Amino acid sequence: NGNTVREAIALDGDCLGTAILIRDVTAEKEVDRMKTDFISTVSHELRTPLTSVLGFAKIIKKKFDDTIVPVVPLDDRKVQRTVKQVGNNIEIILSEGQRLTALINDVLDIAKMEAGKIEWHFELSDMGQVVKRAIAATSSLLEAKDLQVVEVIDEELPEVFVDRDRLIQVMINLISNAVKFTSEGSITCHVTRIENHLSVSVADTGIGIAPEDLDKVFEKFKQVGETLTDKPQGTGLGLPICKQIIEHHGGRIWVESEVGRGSTFSFTLPISPTSAEQSQKLNLDL
Ligand code: ADP
Repeated sequence: NGNTVREAIALDGDCLGTAILIRDVTAEKEVDRMKTDFISTVSHELRTPLTSVLGFAKIIKKKFDDTIVPVVPLDDRKVQRTVKQVGNNIEIILSEGQRLTALINDVLDIAKMEAGKIEWHFELSDMGQVVKRAIAATSSLLEAKDLQVVEVIDEELPEVFVDRDRLIQVMINLISNAVKFTSEGSITCHVTRIENHLSVSVADTGIGIAPEDLDKVFEKFKQVGETLTDKPQGTGLGLPICKQIIEHHGGRIWVESEVGRGSTFSFTLPISPTSAEQSQKLNLDL
């Protein structure tokens, strides 16, 4: 709360006196509250019209696909070209709209996390299941690039006390990045126990990250590497969000990489005594 209490102790151990520093943090708290209010209002105001733009774009696409595409005259090249162009344009509106939605969600997420305004839902969870859910959620990306995903999940792992959805979000971020920056090879998701921690990693055989950029990737809006022009689009917020989530769980996240060979993102999650006790109790109950 910003207040400090210090005791002045003499060499013989006697207490000479106490200094108390009281800092009024009302104004800082108020600024924090205003920042969070501002962010939620702005993102709400951006999301509402965007939802309606995307909704109408979807309706137009359906009508276009169902009623216009089937009646395009086969002998009219000009009409065929125009219909194709309009189809492509609708796809762009949809995909850019979805990208903007993701960006707004990421900005809102990170702002709320930094302000400590996220609601967490901790429960005993099986990390193997979390990894499987994330792999299922990214399967279309994996298939589109013809990349293999390998799961190495140790047996008999203890359950951990975590926010399941947030950890699925972390895994989806790491796997999507692995897919984005890998053109061939495989992606390996590994879950194992190391002493009092679970260790989870996502390894790819992609472009890799230069040693001087390894720390930067966890900074907000940082996109590293030289091939910026043909870089897949992203927000540069995925990894900072992962870091906030993992650190909130008392874990650590880092990356090891070699340019041209691939990267491995790893994080740890403490196996808390509570979770061990709770899982033991749950096992006994069965
Ligand atoms: P985004 O992927 O949206 O750009 P992230 O915060 O997830 O944002 O990642 C930041 C940057 O870190 C990426 O733009 C990329 O330069 C680098 N990066 C992340 N994951 C990988 C990976 N698996 N291989 C190579 N580079 C990566």
